[in-house]
Amino acid sequence: MITIQNGTLLYGENLLPVTKNLFIQDNEIVEISEGRARGKIINAKGCIVAPALVNSHIHLGDSVARDIGDGEPLDKIVKPPNGIKHRILRETPREDLIKSMRDSLQDMIQTGTSTFVDFREGGVEGVEILREALEDIPIRAIILGRQESFLDKNADNSEIVADIQEILKISQGIGLSGFGEVEDETARHIAQECLENGKIPAIHAGENEKMQQQSKEQTGKTEVERALEAGFKLLVHLTSATTQDLEKIIEHEVSVVCCPRSNGALSTGIPPIKEMWDLGINLLLGTDNVMINSPDMFREMEYTLKVTRGLTRKYFPPVEVLKMATVNVGKATGMNLGSLEEGNLADLMIVEQISRDPILSLINRTQSKNIIGLITDGKILYQR
Ligand SMILES: [Zn+2]
Repeated sequence: MITIQNGTLLYGENLLPVTKNLFIQDNEIVEISEGRARGKIINAKGCIVAPALVNSHIHLGDSVARDIGDGEPLDKIVKPPNGIKHRILRETPREDLIKSMRDSLQDMIQTGTSTFVDFREGGVEGVEILREALEDIPIRAIILGRQESFLDKNADNSEIVADIQEILKISQGIGLSGFGEVEDETARHIAQECLENGKIPAIHAGENEKMQQQSKEQTGKTEVERALEAGFKLLVHLTSATTQDLEKIIEHEVSVVCCPRSNGALSTGIPPIKEMWDLGINLLLGTDNVMINSPDMFREMEYTLKVTRGLTRKYFPPVEVLKMATVNVGKATGMNLGSLEEGNLADLMIVEQISRDPILSLINRTQSKNIIGLITDGKILYQR
């Protein structure tokens, strides 16, 4: 049993600040009450006890290509098979790839992240490399794989279905680059197989305005409409979503991962976060490709809050940004994580409170040196 006492605890789905003790047994939050401390006691006086952060979209595999290609067109950097990053990945020895991924994993732990959702390329081998990088690093990985054959326009259905099943055996779902590269029929098979097997089908959609227009001209539908019709449950970006896209997202009950720092870096716009929130869309947050961004969710939260207010010239509540990095992930994945409640996984961080407002203290002020403890799956990873 672990007791965390004397902190300001951000309780439940609304992240409501309360002064209560939190009790952990094995990997679970078993009690939040004013009850007597027992077992190992962690004194969180002067600190915020918050759910650990979840990075809902990252490409860890590109850690070796940090800050390459700045200012080049996106296609030139990331389009397979001869994008700049693909050349770097081909030329880098496997052990160096793994080392750079491990560095990023450590960066995530040092910045309060307990769980991440990775878009993993390279088929079975790609997933195995990430698993190797994860060895001995206590972080929860939700790996969404993909197969090279998904890009092959001539592959037949049975081949594709077999490849989908192969990758789903070793991953928690499939993450697709987007409709520019994958045929609609392939995308439909992928989403269907994922859903039938209780896995997550995810895809980049509506990132680039030109691609959205092209999609409309060629198929009569936007990328977002095609993704929804195919059955995807996690859409990434939506920077250039139309109002109609957003209304359809509500009907289909899918979640959207926003990556505003990535969109800013690539000059693709800023996702309509306030508009989506007003409509009631379940929003998540990710740092996207390590090539472009550090995998630091505190940086992502601060940018998200301020760019949203700047863009709309309206107030946006900070607690909603923190929910994107915590509570909303439970809703999107159906997993019992993301909020401090009895019965949920014990994933939490203990962070020095720097300002009077605990939520803004996290978003505006916190650096890794202020995180004095991180607990993932009930295990104490560090406690300064
Ligand atoms: Zn991405």
